[in-house]
Amino acid sequence: MRNYKVNNILRTKLKKGDDLYYSLMNIIDKIPITAGIIIGIGAVQKANIAYFNQIKKEYENFHFNEAMEIVSLKGNISLKENKPFAHIHISLARSDFTVVGGHLLPDTIIYACEIDIIEYDGKAINRVFDEETNLYLWDL
Ligand code: ZN
Repeated sequence: MRNYKVNNILRTKLKKGDDLYYSLMNIIDKIPITAGIIIGIGAVQKANIAYFNQIKKEYENFHFNEAMEIVSLKGNISLKENKPFAHIHISLARSDFTVVGGHLLPDTIIYACEIDIIEYDGKAINRVFDEETNLYLWDL
């Protein structure tokens, strides 16, 4: 366990037509932010998300070619291979109000998106490969 204080809160609006995943990665890489959280709401024109199959121990991705609401976008920021890395999950509401969700991937296209990034003051956590899960997990 680690304790942090909030260093800064950044609010921004993402651009319609841009890739949601890369837009967020570019922001944290440019500043850079190595410890913190991302939260957001908005809408997407289409989405590409993944489900981690725990039997196969691999991600299975799925494209949703439909306009949906971002009910909730949430991610944490740490270091992976010494670079700022955001692990982001997203819940999306379809036109019939059912919700799908999963691990955010590139090729999710923004319609509108408002983001709050809360930057922590303190030492960043590194992600290291965990053989048991086949995932890069926090080195705590
Ligand atoms: Zn994930």
